Amino acid sequence: MESGVVAAEAVEGIEVRNPASGETITTIAVDSPEQVAAKVARVRAVQPDWEAMGIEGRYHWLGKLRDWILDNQDQVLDTMQRETGKVRADASNEPTYLADIINFYGAHAPDFIGEEGFRPHSPLLAAKKLRVQYRPHPVVGIISPWNFPLILSLGDAVPALIAGAAVVVKPSEFTPLGLAEVVAAWKHELGAPDVFDVVQGIGETGGALVDNVDFVQFTGSDRTGRKVMARAAETLTPVSLELGGKDPMIVLADADLDRAANAAAWGGMFNSGQVCISVERIYVEEPAYDQFVAKLATAVGQLRQGVDDASDPKDVGAMTSPNQIGVVEDHVDDALAGGARALTGGKRVPGPGDYFEPTVLVDVDHTMKVMRDETFGPVVGVMKVRDEAEALRLANDSRYGLSASVFGERDHAERVARRVECGAVNVNDVLVNYFASDVPMGGWKESGIGYRHGAPGIRKFCRSESLVITRFGGKREPTWYPYTRGRRGLVARLAQLFNARDWRRRLGLRR
Ligand code: NAD
Repeated sequence: MESGVVAAEAVEGIEVRNPASGETITTIAVDSPEQVAAKVARVRAVQPDWEAMGIEGRYHWLGKLRDWILDNQDQVLDTMQRETGKVRADASNEPTYLADIINFYGAHAPDFIGEEGFRPHSPLLAAKKLRVQYRPHPVVGIISPWNFPLILSLGDAVPALIAGAAVVVKPSEFTPLGLAEVVAAWKHELGAPDVFDVVQGIGETGGALVDNVDFVQFTGSDRTGRKVMARAAETLTPVSLELGGKDPMIVLADADLDRAANAAAWGGMFNSGQVCISVERIYVEEPAYDQFVAKLATAVGQLRQGVDDASDPKDVGAMTSPNQIGVVEDHVDDALAGGARALTGGKRVPGPGDYFEPTVLVDVDHTMKVMRDETFGPVVGVMKVRDEAEALRLANDSRYGLSASVFGERDHAERVARRVECGAVNVNDVLVNYFASDVPMGGWKESGIGYRHGAPGIRKFCRSESLVITRFGGKREPTWYPYTRGRRGLVARLAQLFNARDWRRRLGLRR
């Protein structure tokens, strides 16, 4: 049984493969719904003590996890490479990102979720002290995909844990091993509080997690995202959905075309194009088109693909999910059948291992799947456009709105970037917004609901609790019982006095 073809919901074990070689690594046990409920109940019981530790106390433990990840980078990277088929350089982003996100939220959590005080806006509330404290959803469930097994699970677990929640993660059935190793280290090597666990399985396990937790953080396809949201609606459980993308790149005629072409090659082929914010479609202003396309085809044509090791480094690795390679093949075949040309690449590489050639398509249009649907593979489609208006119209002509990039003279490119309809735009760079954790990252349209990173990336794991505290007052407020003749019209008179914005009305001289 291939992990990619596990179809039955009630599976006993999942076989995990190395997509770079096609070899089986191991078989893992699946958690039943009852086991999921038991794990959630166990961490729920410890969560109040975790919350009571405060941000500093919790950061202490996350700091230990950061140190473990840095000290055990080789082991972490080996596992990442084995279960995903990534090349080492791509895999190395995972521990780097995690160490950074732990430090980021450790340092900024007090600003983002520390208690806030407010000055009452109305004189009627002058005797009140107003505070807001951010209390965690007790148990956060994280359901994650296979393309970045640690970044897209631990990357959300970190702010949730720092916020004071307990966390249970269900990793993708294709890549369950790396996260399990980190959780085992948290529990056994670090001896950290029992507020972090993992459950293994596919849809049934994910559904059981949704049923049992207080907040769901889902990253994956929009198809599964809809199912998760519908299931969460049954228990009125809030969700944050980080879904797919079809990110456009706009190349203006005044761009540095070498930088733009190198960026398109890396942004489209990094991690074999299996990145939600990959460059998938490119719109180039007519005067720059021929030169840009020639440079891009050369850059992509030179990429080395295959099993990566120190003695024979490669640029582009395998496709992690065998299902996804079928989608990529379908998009490319559909484009070629519709009149597109592959300047380089264009087909699946014969096994062993699951590889698709790095591919540049031209003569594409918006009737083709490759320009409309998420390809999620090492493929870019390039279109010539008359001007910036046409580039923007086509870039925005998508059901997705995750992120984008614009290349051109800086001020010009920035002006164009402000008109792209998506959650983040990189100017003269690609993918880098994911590492700018200072600012929110999330999708518009069908690319998602909610944000990770920045203040929203930790506040979403909290509920705000407003405290309205009476600083002084007598035996009763003037608006309470009994409604004497004087009190009867008091509220209306005060409303007039404080809400009117001219003296005549304030004094009740005009009705
Ligand atoms: P997927 O939707 O197939 O699976 C995601 C997770 O959901 C897996 O863990 C899977 O086991 C689980 N799942 C499947 N059925 C479920 C159900 N009925 N209930 C609960 N959970 C269920 O996605 P994938 O193929 O693993 O990942 C690729 C997708 O993820 C792409 O669309 C990509 O764009 C998207 N993605 C988005 C972001 C982002 O930040 N927006 C980041 C990375 C990947």
